[in-house]
Amino acid sequence: VQQKLDLLKQNSNGSVNALLDTYALELAQAVDAKIAKGENIGLLEGIPFGVKDVFMLQGTYTTASSDFLKQYKSAYTASAIQKLLDAGAIPIVKENCDSFGHGSSNENTIFGAVKNAQDETLVAGGSSGGSAVNVAKDYTVFSIGGDTGGSVRQPAGYNGVYGLKPTYGRISRYGLMAYASSTDCVGPLAKSVEDIRIVLNTISGKDIKDQTTYDSSQIDETTLENASGIKAVGYFKNLLENDAMDPTIKADFMDSLEKLKAKGIQVKALDFLDADTLVSTYYILAMAETASNLSRLDGTNYGNRINAENLIESYAVTRSENFSEESKRRIVGGNQVLSQGFSDEIYLKSLAIRDKISADFEGFFQDVDIVLSPVTPGLPPKVGDSLKDPLAMYLSDAFTVGFSLGQLPTLTVPKGTATGIQITAAKTEDERVLQFAHLLE
Ligand code: GLN
Repeated sequence: VQQKLDLLKQNSNGSVNALLDTYALELAQAVDAKIAKGENIGLLEGIPFGVKDVFMLQGTYTTASSDFLKQYKSAYTASAIQKLLDAGAIPIVKENCDSFGHGSSNENTIFGAVKNAQDETLVAGGSSGGSAVNVAKDYTVFSIGGDTGGSVRQPAGYNGVYGLKPTYGRISRYGLMAYASSTDCVGPLAKSVEDIRIVLNTISGKDIKDQTTYDSSQIDETTLENASGIKAVGYFKNLLENDAMDPTIKADFMDSLEKLKAKGIQVKALDFLDADTLVSTYYILAMAETASNLSRLDGTNYGNRINAENLIESYAVTRSENFSEESKRRIVGGNQVLSQGFSDEIYLKSLAIRDKISADFEGFFQDVDIVLSPVTPGLPPKVGDSLKDPLAMYLSDAFTVGFSLGQLPTLTVPKGTATGIQITAAKTEDERVLQFAHLLE
């Protein structure tokens, strides 16, 4: 723990919002004492991990990388984090992220952009960029991120680590600051499938504090080596033919498909919605939900408050001054699509497209066991570029948002020079996703 804390102190990638040094060292001493007494310790006991700064951890600042909550201290601990504490794992850092999860480059943050672990002129990706960098650089053994539309999978791909977005509801969202509640997922990032499995087993399960959770069985180590039940995989041919597709990412991906064919796996082309439809549908719904979720931040109960002449003015000034440009864009957009005269044409239409996405996936999984996709259409952008062009940033989410809207389990597997491959299975089949990973090696 001390060694990792020292590394985090020198960190120049900007992945740290707050070090939990005193807290972590106390926990580490307790584990040392146990070892000294010759007691057995559990698998995760004493293992240092990172926490994206949108998770409650009682007594620590939880800022969501925002001015609004810069001085907000968590009053309780998120269920997933509590389960890790119960297993003896040690949180050592609150990790930089895009403010309220709003972003794909980890530049929408009051703590400064997070730089890519492999090349500091490039972004780390977002919104869980700090979490991905800390794992990539070995500053943490694993990190807990949040994924609403790609925020675990995309930075995992950009920085060359594994990142899982489990089936929606497999892990409790209690204590994860809500962005878009219908797609928000808690997800681990780590350097191996095995580590992902261990963390997933620890934090999964029904939680009375999140009524969308369900009971899932533990994934056994030995079943991971057996992918013999997987006969056919599908991929979205139409999305790969998009003009925005980077040729090296496409070539790498097609090469992986060829290797699977050589292993006797059938590969089938699937026809899915186009990138524009997927991205618009996701952003309309995510903005609508975030506008609603963030309406609670008005300076009354949480965070900074700026007083003005009257209450309404105070709300307005507090919100205008404390939300970032990107978050304001989403709140205004979300309220617009929910307002009378727009909601039928825009919001309800997006809900109907979302139903079609779920139906499409049900159809695909009649035919194939796994769907494969690149993580992103392009390579990580240069630091500063995404801020100039938010629409281009939204479009970079084309490959991740469909699986979020479908609430499916998806794992990013790091791959060569490209940005990684996503493995997706039908709902609740997270085990299959992990099983398949070694076939890509
Ligand atoms: N980039 C996407 C967005 O900004 C996804 C972010 C996330 O998953 N939190 O909405």
